[in-house]
Amino acid sequence: MTPLKYVRPESIEQALEQLASGSALGGGTTLVPRRNSLETVVDLQGLGLADLEVSAGKVVAGAGCTLQQMIEAEGMIIEELAETCRREASWNLRNMATLAGAVLACDGRSPLVAALLAVGGKAVLAGGETLDLDELLDRRPLPTGTLVTALQWKAKASLRYEQVARTPADRPIVAVAIGHTDGSAHRVVLGGFGARPVRVPRAEKALAAEDLRSASEAAAEAYAQAGDVWASAEYRAHVAGVLVRRLAAELVTGAGKVRGPSEGKGRTPGEARDNVPSETKGKV
Ligand SMILES: Cc1cc2nc3c(=O)[nH]c(=O)nc-3n(C[C@H](O)[C@H](O)[C@H](O)COP(=O)(O)OP(=O)(O)OC[C@H]3O[C@@H](n4cnc5c(N)ncnc54)[C@H](O)[C@@H]3O)c2cc1C
Repeated sequence: MTPLKYVRPESIEQALEQLASGSALGGGTTLVPRRNSLETVVDLQGLGLADLEVSAGKVVAGAGCTLQQMIEAEGMIIEELAETCRREASWNLRNMATLAGAVLACDGRSPLVAALLAVGGKAVLAGGETLDLDELLDRRPLPTGTLVTALQWKAKASLRYEQVARTPADRPIVAVAIGHTDGSAHRVVLGGFGARPVRVPRAEKALAAEDLRSASEAAAEAYAQAGDVWASAEYRAHVAGVLVRRLAAELVTGAGKVRGPSEGKGRTPGEARDNVPSETKGKV
């Protein structure tokens, strides 16, 4: 086995230099099994990228936040998003796996990435560039030397997520996340197949017109070729259509309204699943 060089930079500048010839090490849950193909790993833990804060109307989660940290950040992360972190991996893995690692290593079966796309997540790169999560996923594999420092999304977010899997704890065969943030239209995301969860613009347009049937048909069509060893395309297309129609119906009846932090009273049972993080700063 080739000896592995391990470095642990203490600053972003140092990390960027070392990433020119090494692989970023978040929690290592994806990287470690590839150990034989690695020469140098750059452990990001010394960079102070594990803070989670709500500031200026945004949730800003450091790239090094663990998935478990997101779950334990009571009041900062909306409940539905925290739930998708829980679905991402078991407790042991969630304590190691980082937010950036989960996004960069994801395939279509990632509940968390489907949810982050639905709430309009953005990635911040070292150097200051901010890009939509959609674009970050399209850029994978990232060019050598790229360092994600944080992920962010608007604090006033609303999310609905449903999945069908072999067991309640398994990864989805079909997942649907529908979300929106203050002032935005609904984003409809399908997961459970392929290289990454995908947005379905036609379903989004139909939902904006409250045309649930067309939203459902657009989702089914988006998965019309989505067959693999886990499920046939016919099955996925059908389930995607059903889940979109179900979640969209909840939204159209008012259960998916975005609320401000002070608007907590008088919720309908459906609305009770929404909540908005309070303006909070600091580590979790
Ligand atoms: C048994 C098992 C099953 C899994 N099944 C699935 C599955 O079915 N679908 C799915 O989507 N995921 C799956 N995962 C992935 C899981 O969600 C990820 O392993 C985990 O979240 C990755 O996080 P990490 O911090 O450990 O990443 P690491 O392993 O540390 O890194 C993952 C990748 O991201 C890069 N990276 C990490 N942080 C940064 C950064 N800040 N900037 C730039 N690059 C960075 C690394 O160089 C590496 O290429 C599975 C994982 C395990 C262990």
